[in-house]
Amino acid sequence: MIRPDFVPTLNRLFGDISNNKPVQATEDELVYFLSSQNAEEQQLLCDLAAQTRDYHCGKRMVVRGLVEFSSYCTNTCFYCGLNRDNTRADRFQLSPQEILSSADLVHQAGINTIVLQSGEDGMKAELLADIIWQIKHRYDMAITLSVGERENDEYKIWKEAGADRYLLRVESTDPELYRSLHRGRELASRLACLESLQNLGYQTGSGMMVGPPGQTLIHLARDIQFLYSREFDMIGVGPFIPHPHTPLKDSPAGSVHLTLRVVALLRLTTRNAWLPATTALGSMDKDYRVEALKAGANVLMPNFSPVDAKKKYEIYPGKRCVTEKAGACAGCTEGIAHAAGLETDWTRADSLKRRGEG
Ligand code: SAM
Repeated sequence: MIRPDFVPTLNRLFGDISNNKPVQATEDELVYFLSSQNAEEQQLLCDLAAQTRDYHCGKRMVVRGLVEFSSYCTNTCFYCGLNRDNTRADRFQLSPQEILSSADLVHQAGINTIVLQSGEDGMKAELLADIIWQIKHRYDMAITLSVGERENDEYKIWKEAGADRYLLRVESTDPELYRSLHRGRELASRLACLESLQNLGYQTGSGMMVGPPGQTLIHLARDIQFLYSREFDMIGVGPFIPHPHTPLKDSPAGSVHLTLRVVALLRLTTRNAWLPATTALGSMDKDYRVEALKAGANVLMPNFSPVDAKKKYEIYPGKRCVTEKAGACAGCTEGIAHAAGLETDWTRADSLKRRGEG
């Protein structure tokens, strides 16, 4: 049964749709919504989030072309199939020429943002800077990097070469939980990287998985508070999916419905962040990306990596469309947007926070 105070609480906190400042919510209030077990409550939460998205970001879904260029990684994140201790992983690294060919496919698909993602493979900063420069030189494209923790100077070199945006999930804002998911890594260094990126003027994205072992609703509530109060331009959340060749192989996957409530609460609190309907949400028992868009998300990232690379970039098993030809995912894009009642937007779609659209 829907809780008697649900609608009054929802309206009191988030009912003023036109308010364009981040909406603060207490830990208890966020846990109250996160803990919902009722389909009608979930629907009301998602509907208000979708209306809030339409008001602040437009009734549209923006498209970013994803290129996964290296699966080598020096990290040992306990949840991730790319972790260096996974000796069964078949590793690859695209050559600069292959990365440029993938950028060409993104451009040909009419997409104006490319996301370059890799494991922490230690690629020389100057080499990546050169690739960034060449992409910028050829196309008027926004470039997003997602290559993990690096030195401030390296982030600076890439920014100067033309990178516009950077995605680095915080993974958890709780130092203990963070430690339990990583070996030899500290939350403080993650936070320092995020601060460097924001100070250097990157449009910065962060986020976390929903449901890794040890994560509670209180952790999630605090993560949400962190994400809206730091005014990230983009926030990605997806369910944890156990990978068979990692220490967390026997842990259950994160809940799709809880993930959708997190997406809705991020929309209701941040107002205008770009929120992707993540590939992880598309890789569960069915594709839940349309549901994410109906819960306030507004970004889709079709995959433009070469087929062989897509298969080998196995963060978690069951990744959607790995056998499709490079760029074929772009074909489904409009259908996904329409199923959620949205138009497809192919522009660069810069941050709505600092510099307006454009
Ligand atoms: N190396 C870069 C970094 O650390 O930011 C980018 C690549 S990393 C594989 C991208 C994201 O994948 C991580 O931030 C993590 O949240 C997510 N991820 C890794 N393993 C996952 C799993 N088993 N289930 C769901 N998401 C996972």
